[in-house]
Amino acid sequence: DISLSPRVSSLKPSKTIAITDQATALVQSGVPVIRLAAGEPDFDTPAVIAEAGMKAIRDGYTKCTPNAGTLELRSAICHKLKEENGISYTPDQILVSNGAKQSLLQAVLAVCSPGDEVIIPAPFWVSYTEMARLADATPVILPTHISEDFLLDPKILESKLSEKSRLLVIGTPSNPAGTVYPRKLLEQIAQIVAAHPRLLVSSPHVLSDEIYEHIIYAPATHTSFASLPGMWERTLTVNGFSKAFAMTGWRLGYLAGPKHFVSACGKIQSQATSGACSISQKAGVAALGLGYAGGEAVATMVKAFKERRDYLVQTFGELEGVKISEPQGAFYLFLDFSSYYGTEAEGFGLIKDSSSLCRYLLDKAQVIFQGVPFMANEMKVERGLIERHLSGWSN
Ligand code: PLP
Repeated sequence: DISLSPRVSSLKPSKTIAITDQATALVQSGVPVIRLAAGEPDFDTPAVIAEAGMKAIRDGYTKCTPNAGTLELRSAICHKLKEENGISYTPDQILVSNGAKQSLLQAVLAVCSPGDEVIIPAPFWVSYTEMARLADATPVILPTHISEDFLLDPKILESKLSEKSRLLVIGTPSNPAGTVYPRKLLEQIAQIVAAHPRLLVSSPHVLSDEIYEHIIYAPATHTSFASLPGMWERTLTVNGFSKAFAMTGWRLGYLAGPKHFVSACGKIQSQATSGACSISQKAGVAALGLGYAGGEAVATMVKAFKERRDYLVQTFGELEGVKISEPQGAFYLFLDFSSYYGTEAEGFGLIKDSSSLCRYLLDKAQVIFQGVPFMANEMKVERGLIERHLSGWSN
């Protein structure tokens, strides 16, 4: 549409939505589709958290909060970041938003100017590149390999940095590969970041997306980039409640960083959405009150995710031609089906790429995968059913 801004025209439409629409049509016609596409825990929000939200409504706690979030929640977030992540922030260095997605977008908008480069290791959460485009910046993708568990090679980072580099996005644990960056690798990345000329100005250059920090499988452990020596000033830390606390619909996330940048993000938010939902913020305080790393409630969900991961890694491991890197965190499995590309599937035609493979799998086995990755979060479906579906396309 020529009446739209070029900013919108350059945005990529979501492939997930296209295949989800196809699946919805199938479900409506009575086909039992197994959905392995949306990044949502299938658990209910833990009762204590939900009750805090309901109490907020009953108490009439339904008015606007400060733009940056309530002092109560920001103080609880500071306490969490200190205790669990070893990073010290004061409440004026925290901005609570309507989900980590908003926190990330505002950070990209606040830091990047047109023409700046946003460095993103692949495989990446699809919104990172589009957020860069919304800021008129250019996404620069760093390749990684399944044989190295998708860990970023510091040499590749070094080779791709230019005078236009402005922001490096690190998601750990990552969506979609479940990659957990070991502390040693983060230290190597920190050294490169510290040596880059554009980074000599004291401003943040690393956007650290830690939304999956609690969904992690031993022996992997989470390291916050801002906790590394010299990195506090250079890092914007993003986290939220959606994944660990099964609170995707409550829309609550946050950004922590040097005050100047957090205030800039707050300025954007004040003109876009204002403070996050008052009810959700009360629920967020209750979530952080569950104890270290979310206590028992979160541990129970992580245990279930781990069982599902093990089951899927084993099941897909038995398929010919499929390469797997066992995810160390998050609840996704990122499979390499490339040996199927260029082959003919009976009754379907050419499997050109991941998109046509996804269409084929939906057609043939009623399993919905996202464009490339898929999530292991709908495994409450009876296992036998999944096995029957899988056996439909394994040969
Ligand atoms: N970051 C990553 C890597 C994600 O996968 C998601 C959600 O899918 C988000 C951020 C955003 O989370 P929310 O906006 O629900 O807090």
